[in-house]
Amino acid sequence: MPVISDKLEELLANEAPGPVRGAIARGRKSSADLALLLSPGADSCLEEMAVAARAASLRNFGKTIGLYMPLYLSNHCSGSCPYCGFRADAKIRRASLSLEEIVEECRVIASRGMRHVLLVSGDVKRDVDVDYLAQAITRLKTFMSHVSIEVAALHENDYLKLALAGLDGVTLYQETYDRGIYTQLHDGGPKKDFEHRLHTLDRAGAAGIHTLTLGALWGLAPWRQEALMLGLHAFDLQKRWWRSRIQLGMPRLKHVPDDFVITNPVDDRTLTHIIVAMRLFIEEMGLALSTRESPELRDALIPLGVTQMSAGSSTRPGGYSGDDSLGDQFEVVDQRSPAQVARALQDRGYDPVWKDWDMGFGHGGTG
Ligand code: SF4
Repeated sequence: MPVISDKLEELLANEAPGPVRGAIARGRKSSADLALLLSPGADSCLEEMAVAARAASLRNFGKTIGLYMPLYLSNHCSGSCPYCGFRADAKIRRASLSLEEIVEECRVIASRGMRHVLLVSGDVKRDVDVDYLAQAITRLKTFMSHVSIEVAALHENDYLKLALAGLDGVTLYQETYDRGIYTQLHDGGPKKDFEHRLHTLDRAGAAGIHTLTLGALWGLAPWRQEALMLGLHAFDLQKRWWRSRIQLGMPRLKHVPDDFVITNPVDDRTLTHIIVAMRLFIEEMGLALSTRESPELRDALIPLGVTQMSAGSSTRPGGYSGDDSLGDQFEVVDQRSPAQVARALQDRGYDPVWKDWDMGFGHGGTG
């Protein structure tokens, strides 16, 4: 895993726009270029970075945006992450879906045109174990083209088993790359081991999982260092697991439990800065933006580097079949339906992609 060297620290502290313009103009960007693109000197170059990011997005992805929906399997959690609505001491109604309920939820998702689903759960291996996940994936792959998971960090053998069941993608956010802050926030429970979490996507890559999505939870640590580490981590994964597609998620803390203070808030301009810097650093890397963000911001970011958007999301188990009694993980800000999001994309000249593989071509389709 790369570290921020003294040289990169120095570039990250750069205050002059000149070196940033040099980095924007260079072809393949180096880690030194990424540090410059994230430095205070880049704050006044955001317009130029956005123009270059738009061109890079068009070159690599054309005018297409993939759509997906999360499906919450369980809101039980043994974790105590203080920023999360599912933490063990939160007073919410909890449940885990049965296999039949998962299929029923997913049929509602499919009825809205969606063929890409992300299965999400709190860290509760008792209810959401590998056999349960494998059975759910096998059932869902009979009518969904892409099934990915955002659950607890697993072992390579577990990912192998899930890959055989048809799993296409693993999403796992490090939350923060700042070890001190990480330890403070996760001083017990399943996420205590920073290193184990850090190498989770390596284990998924070794198991042959096609799409590996990583991210930092913006708001936990100073964003420039965090974004640099995220970019270096993505680059490292891309080199190592070159058969997989490496993708970034961009979760940002906005609505948190009353007793948690966001110490390093990230505003819209900063989130835009991070997104265009990442697009310029690795042009061909996917980038997903969730419904945590407002419709206005999501629409504005479409041309600047976003390649995947969730739409019509519920962040509680059973949320699509009409059960609104259980606790949510976070507040959905963009409440548009998938059809409305698709229309917003089309209005801007973009094609919504509802599925990235046709099952008629063969099982899974991702090799
Ligand atoms: S972030 Fe994950 S592990 Fe932590 S409390 Fe929330 S669901 Fe549980």
